This record gives sequence, structure tokens and C-alpha cells, in this order.
Amino acid sequence: MVKIGTHVSSSKSLDLVFDRAKEVNASTIQFFLRSPRSWSWKERSEKELENFHLKKKSFGINPVIVHASYLFNLASADEALRQKSIDGVVQELKLCEELGIEYYVIHAGKAKNQPEEKAVKNIISSLEQIFKKVPLKNTTFLVETLAGQKGEIGKTTEEIKTLIKPFETENIGVCIDTCHIFAAGYKINEEDGFKSYKQELEKLIGLDRIKVIHCNDSKTPFNSRRDRHEHIGKGSIGLNGFKLFLNDPFFRTLPFILETPKSGNWDIININTLKSLIDAPVAQ
Ligand SMILES: [Zn+2]
Repeated sequence: MVKIGTHVSSSKSLDLVFDRAKEVNASTIQFFLRSPRSWSWKERSEKELENFHLKKKSFGINPVIVHASYLFNLASADEALRQKSIDGVVQELKLCEELGIEYYVIHAGKAKNQPEEKAVKNIISSLEQIFKKVPLKNTTFLVETLAGQKGEIGKTTEEIKTLIKPFETENIGVCIDTCHIFAAGYKINEEDGFKSYKQELEKLIGLDRIKVIHCNDSKTPFNSRRDRHEHIGKGSIGLNGFKLFLNDPFFRTLPFILETPKSGNWDIININTLKSLIDAPVAQ
């Protein structure tokens, strides 16, 4: 069975993510540990952590994925902001370890007012500090493929390789976002483009490092370098792109997480659409 799930709200109490996942029939989930556009951090009570552990065991929803705050910029040329981002990641990763979260996904950073090579160096130095402060045992740190808007680092497989290469002995890997890679110039909705992207991953990174798929269609056209998520089949990727991933012998073993717009019962519709694209097993 392919694991298909969605990003859910973690407001009020962290354990509620499991109830929210169940409501939409998700078999895997992702959520934030803080409001993604605010720096404020809430200490969690023993009771809240305990409830989380209980539901994580009993609901059968896995893997459990946390997405880092959008405010972090590990590439920043502003030292104060970079340090604040490192501290924020450390804070989140410590809680992930405590909660037994399987994957922590992050947008590595934006170059902004500096050359991209400098931005890459900053990210690597930030990651060195982070891994020194939080030895990862339960959680694997995933760098996400990005669309390349506003100087984002991680828009090519080569860039992702440069970021993770120095940390091969750590729990580190990659999260692929279908909308981002398509916007970054990988034509994954056609057989040939899909095959060559998979080969590139295999060659530069190794498929064993690819752990999660963010499953989003794109509001903007191919190679637009813009990050605008759309419902499955309603954007410029179209159903065929998702069909290719869902029926690929490797990718279908990974969790698929929707990050599509939240309104009405769209999570249920998108999950059902994805399920409908999976080829039926051949009768024995
Ligand atoms: Zn993301």
C-alpha cells in the first residue's frame, strides 16, 4: 500500500495531528512545531507529550514528519538572523528527537544579497553547528528540493548534493517536492523527463537518501522558478506526473504528503485522486 497523507494543523495540542489525519483518511502526516511565520516557541507540557506518544503508537499513522518554520534562513548573510535560525532549528530538532519524529524537512536557505556560493557555504557551516548540538538518533534531517525563487538554494540535484555530501555519516536525506522540481526545470510529468530525473538522483545522491515526497501540482508553468502549490491534477504538472511517481517501484515505497491549498474537503479529494492513479495489482 502506498502511504498517502497530508500536512495537518498542530494548533491547540500536538497530539491532535493524529485525530486530524484520521478525519481525512491520511496514513502519514506532516505538521509544524510552531506557527511557521512566527519565531515564538511554546514549551509543551508532560501531558501533551505523553498524549502524543500514546496516539503515535495507537493510530497507526506513520511516518510522522515535521516541517521546519519558514522563517529560518541558514544561508543568511545577516549573522544574527543565521544564528537565530540555527537556534530555532536546534529547538525544533530536540523536540523531534523527544517525540520520535521520523523526518524533519527544511528549506535550506535563500542567498538574498550575496553570491550563491557564499550562501551554500553558510548553509554547510550552519548544518555543522546544528549536528554538533543535536546528535540525531530518531529523526532524519531532510533537505527539500526548492523551486529556486528569490535565490533559494536546492533548486538542482547538484546543489542538494553539495549541501548533504559533507554530512554523509549523519541521519541526513532529501525530500522531493513535485511542484518545486517541476518549477525548477525538471519535466517529471513526461516519461523521459521523469526517468532522467530519477537517474540523476540515483547518480548524484543515491535513492537510499530520498525519504519523503511532497506531492503538489503547480499553479505556475514548467520552469517558472515559482513556488505555488495547486490541487492534484488541476495544475501544470497534471495527473500523469503523479501517476509516474505513484507507480514507480522505488518512489511508491516513500510517504506522499500533500501541501495543497486547505479549503473544504480538498484533502479528501486530493488523497482519493492520488489513490485512483495507483495501478491495480495484477491478479494472482
Ligand atoms: Zn517545504
